[in-house]
Amino acid sequence: MSTSVQPLPDCHWRNWSGLEEATARQVESPASVGEVVDVVRRARTAGTTVKMTGTDHSFTAIAAPEHTLLRPEALSGILAVDREAMTVTARAGTPLHELNLALERLGLSLHNMGDIAEQTLAGATSTGTHGTGGTAAGLAAQLAGLELVTGTGDVLRASAQENPDVLEVARVGLGALGILTSLTFHVEPLVVIEAHEQPMTWAAALDSYDEMVAGAHHVDMYWFPHTDRMMVKQNVRTDLEPGEQEPPSRLAAWWEDELVSNTVFGGLCRVGSRAPGLIPRINRVAGRALSERRYSDLAHRVFVTPRRVRFREMEYAVPREVGLDVLRECRRVIDASDWRIAFPVEIRTAPADDIPLSTSHGRDSFYLAFHVPQDTDHTAYFGGLEPILREAGGRPHWGKVHTRTAADLAPAYDRFDDFLAMRERLDPDRVFANAHLRRVLGD
Ligand SMILES: Cc1cc2nc3c(=O)[nH]c(=O)nc-3n(C[C@H](O)[C@H](O)[C@H](O)COP(=O)(O)OP(=O)(O)OC[C@H]3O[C@@H](n4cnc5c(N)ncnc54)[C@H](O)[C@@H]3O)c2cc1C
Repeated sequence: MSTSVQPLPDCHWRNWSGLEEATARQVESPASVGEVVDVVRRARTAGTTVKMTGTDHSFTAIAAPEHTLLRPEALSGILAVDREAMTVTARAGTPLHELNLALERLGLSLHNMGDIAEQTLAGATSTGTHGTGGTAAGLAAQLAGLELVTGTGDVLRASAQENPDVLEVARVGLGALGILTSLTFHVEPLVVIEAHEQPMTWAAALDSYDEMVAGAHHVDMYWFPHTDRMMVKQNVRTDLEPGEQEPPSRLAAWWEDELVSNTVFGGLCRVGSRAPGLIPRINRVAGRALSERRYSDLAHRVFVTPRRVRFREMEYAVPREVGLDVLRECRRVIDASDWRIAFPVEIRTAPADDIPLSTSHGRDSFYLAFHVPQDTDHTAYFGGLEPILREAGGRPHWGKVHTRTAADLAPAYDRFDDFLAMRERLDPDRVFANAHLRRVLGD
């Protein structure tokens, strides 16, 4: 029998890529830990579910609400700075770009980050968001502590001193263990990065890849499918003091980041969508349009780039030592197919970490990311490459498109059962469940 509760317009949830949608029964925007506790206790008593979202940048339905949707906006801001311990605590819904600016004003910086900063702190860490580099791991590995409201409505603090077993697992918690209310990050003094962006051939880039990763702190490569062209970014940490950096001029930054990478690229994608046969030629033009440049800037200004062209993405982490062979095999399959791929394939690395569900758990990793424009059917392309990535021991990014289920994810993680045991302990009634979590965690 239907109830009299009518969904309100703002109960409609849609993710950034537009690939996933859901309608919640109600939406709340908690402004305090007490309000989160209240919502969770009410849901538990009523036998319903609660899903807190970040900024909806995950490509999967991992943040899809089924009953109560919690928005993060009122749970934002810096709470504490400890210069002795070199940690900063912020509310879980703080967007990364706000944290980066606040840290800059404090003369501090995160160790590493991904290529955008729109996400919330909780959303980014919960899915294992990472940047690139052989030494500095993903955002969750930079966590020194966290506070969450469990499925029983208890407030639990976790750090090296207090509940360290919870900290270990909940850093990449998939939104399945509790509602995070605050996060404490290890930070370092503000660092200036020297950036070198350089077009290379496929062969030159692959031949020198290990050397580049050993020599530069952060290496990011983009291969333009159907061409021999790569764009390679090598970012090196410098001893320059903040204020001594030489950022690109406003015109150069506008030309490369806004016009070439976003506006022109967006236009080329639209042409490619209408005439897929032109894509190989378009990719050759796009690959050539990006030119060599060097500049230096504060770390977050180098790592983060505007992304105005919307897309769908699948990303896998494979063991570092097989990465280049897996990339070659993916190229072989793309070359042999009739797919027309407008978006570059992104290649990054990350060092091993100790977080049970981190895609880099226990092994140095090589990340391969595949994209299609937002309105393009991705199933043949992603589905055609996923078996290669899985066979190589690949682990899919928790926030990006994949088809894996609990049964075949479990063997990819030697601590998968520890995660399930923690979930049983912290959310025995599955207050935080949704269909996506039932698929990837098993119930
Ligand atoms: C343009 C773009 C660029 C990207 N670049 C990168 C990149 O460089 N590297 C990378 O690794 N990934 C990248 N991603 C993926 C992205 O970082 C992740 O999908 C991330 O989870 C999105 O954060 P969000 O705040 O939007 O969270 P959402 O997608 O809204 O939520 C993600 C998960 O976090 C949970 N969650 C959110 N808030 C809370 C809370 N307070 N307590 C408990 N659980 C919570 C949600 O329930 C859900 O399970 C990119 C995505 C896009 C769209």
